[in-house]
Amino acid sequence: MPLDKLSHPQQARAWFDNIPIQNQYTVGIAGEVFFRGLMDGKLLAAHCQECGRTFLPPTLYCGNCFSTSGEWREIVPHGVIDTFTVVHLDLEDNRLEQPELIALVRFEGCEGGLIHRLGEIDAAQVEVGMPVEVVFRPPQEREGSILDIAHVRPLTKS
Ligand SMILES: [Zn+2]
Repeated sequence: MPLDKLSHPQQARAWFDNIPIQNQYTVGIAGEVFFRGLMDGKLLAAHCQECGRTFLPPTLYCGNCFSTSGEWREIVPHGVIDTFTVVHLDLEDNRLEQPELIALVRFEGCEGGLIHRLGEIDAAQVEVGMPVEVVFRPPQEREGSILDIAHVRPLTKS
């Protein structure tokens, strides 16, 4: 009976299908500043003037004390590998000709981090804690995207 109370979700009549859905999100105020910074070859973090914490990616308010008194700070684009993985399949499960290295990079003095491609190194050489630097695409190729960062690579001592 349609009006009987269901005691378990599996008792509900259902059919299964797929609905194609496409979403579009704005990057928000903090994201706008961050991505414009990438176009200028800068990593911009949000620094809370109340509690002194710095966030990258930046946020509009502090995740620690909820203050909105943040200011933008350009940070040195050098970090360390927090963790990494080797990707062998694309989004459709097709085997990649060349496996890709993906790393979570953390930056000194910042909470958060960036996940990006790791380049100019072989998988066997990658280590957690390894110093790396951000490599930006040439200015004429930047378009306000996370891909304005070409990749991160081992930090050279120059
Ligand atoms: Zn704070």
